Amino acid sequence: MNPRLKFPYEFIGEILITQEQIQQRVADLGEQITQDYQHSDKLLLLGLLRGSVMFMTDLMRHIRRPMTMDFMLVSSYAGTESSGFVRIDADHKTNIYGWDVILIDDIVDTGYTLYTVRKLLLERQPRSLKICALLDKKARHKVDIHIDYLGFEIPDYFVVGYGLDIDEKGRNLPYIASVDLEKYKKLYPPDEGKK
Ligand code: 5GP
Ligand code: MG
Ligand code: MG
Repeated sequence: MNPRLKFPYEFIGEILITQEQIQQRVADLGEQITQDYQHSDKLLLLGLLRGSVMFMTDLMRHIRRPMTMDFMLVSSYAGTESSGFVRIDADHKTNIYGWDVILIDDIVDTGYTLYTVRKLLLERQPRSLKICALLDKKARHKVDIHIDYLGFEIPDYFVVGYGLDIDEKGRNLPYIASVDLEKYKKLYPPDEGKK
């Protein structure tokens, strides 16, 4: 890798949300959640792996309440397009019956992921269920989904960083950046490795 690269990955377009902006917003969300759940003794943060990990672990540092965490592993994406079909690869461990659950994801695009998972979780009868997402591409929603706690609304770019990936790359960036998809395709041709 070229040591003089401006960014750690060659395919990064531009930084859309800085580390400082994220940290400030996450602290505010944590404060809001702390207030909203001050009478709850059964608060569970339920994150969707793997994209929500960095967001969730930062967010929980700002929640000044007793809480627990759990995860589910779900997938709906192949490359940069949502398939609309959401697969549960690994379920959460906690019995959420009677719990106040905050379902956390990195980004809402079509909304299929959170819509589907939310429906499934409601069948398990939590006391309450709210949705928290770091990013929202609101213009792309295909289903009706209400985000109770949102970090930032963004335009229709494919983004990486702060947990978000493109084919597993880019998760370690501390900011949100757009991907230069032309450059990405040249670096990683779509049919690479299939022959
Ligand atoms: P949805 O089901 O709302 O269409 O898609 C949500 C999921 O798609 C997110 O959890 C995320 O994994 C992935 N996704 C959607 N847009 C982006 C994006 O711009 N960048 C990355 N890295 N993932 C995205
Ligand atoms: Mg995801
Ligand atoms: Mg991904």
